[in-house]
Amino acid sequence: MGEHGLARLCRQVLDGEVAAAARLIREIDDGHPDAKAALQSLYPHSRRAKLIGITGPPGVGKSTLTSALITRIRARDQGVGVLAVDPSSPFSGGAVLGDRIRMKPHLLDPAVFIRSMASRGESGGMTWATRGAAVVMAALGLPYILIETLGVGQDGIDISRFAHTTMVVTAPGLGDQIQAIKAGIMEVGDIFVVNKSDLNGAAQTVAELETMVEERCAGTDAWRPGVVGCSALGGKGLDDLWDALESHWAFLSQPTPASEAGQLEKLRRDVLEMVKKAETDRIMAALAGDSDLEIGIRALAKGEADPYTLCDGLLGKLHRDD
Ligand code: GDP
Repeated sequence: MGEHGLARLCRQVLDGEVAAAARLIREIDDGHPDAKAALQSLYPHSRRAKLIGITGPPGVGKSTLTSALITRIRARDQGVGVLAVDPSSPFSGGAVLGDRIRMKPHLLDPAVFIRSMASRGESGGMTWATRGAAVVMAALGLPYILIETLGVGQDGIDISRFAHTTMVVTAPGLGDQIQAIKAGIMEVGDIFVVNKSDLNGAAQTVAELETMVEERCAGTDAWRPGVVGCSALGGKGLDDLWDALESHWAFLSQPTPASEAGQLEKLRRDVLEMVKKAETDRIMAALAGDSDLEIGIRALAKGEADPYTLCDGLLGKLHRDD
């Protein structure tokens, strides 16, 4: 392990020191210059944890379900990390979660490590800090990391790339939202959860999702996502949900051609997203306040230039600077 400014914190994390993990996550989130070195050194120690993404439309019960899963994991005397990814919040840290009433019973439990992460509205923007926090929690020795998105959309898709298992949560009677799920995040669901199964219409929603899964998987030996009805509020169906998770992990651990191809594709997309994000950041930093850009857009506004030539000029400049 190369020595860097955060090396001591890393050692403490590996020794299981929760306070060091909290501090390191903060440093990563604040963009400490040695954050990457810290994550490089911790990553090999993070691979045993199961990362579980939880996504779905607002109001379907994701937070309630997360809380129920925490309770279930704690009943087996295991630790759990929880990351809540909030696209609307400019803050990371405990503040947002403090307001989240459903997490309250767990806030004082030292074996439950909860952090709220801002996604700051950048596409792929949550990836760096959130994935970093997941690596730190895993290196701390927590066997399960639940990563919950507060909304549905890009965050859910980003998370699905680095979670082992992505649960797409829905509820009966959502109609249009099921269409949205079909359109947007159907491909990323490893397990479909119909929460609020105590309400009318749950069986129909389960049947619709099963048809969807059937269409998606027909004729392939790829993972066939489970569709699980449960009631997070009443604590029903959680054993079935846990069984579905374990089936998925068993599938991932069998090196069949289908599971291997799926795994490679996921890793490929994940790494390419990281490259894209790093490159975009570099370009944006290089062009911030660039005089050619400023002169060019003024000329554009006056109708004295065209954007194609301006773009080519800026690209040429960036490549000369490489
Ligand atoms: P989120 O926005 O997806 O995180 O949803 P929440 O966990 O905040 O839950 C939204 C609402 O649904 C709350 O009022 C919950 O009490 C309620 N809720 C959650 N789970 C269930 C359930 O299993 N059955 C019923 N009937 N209501 C639930």
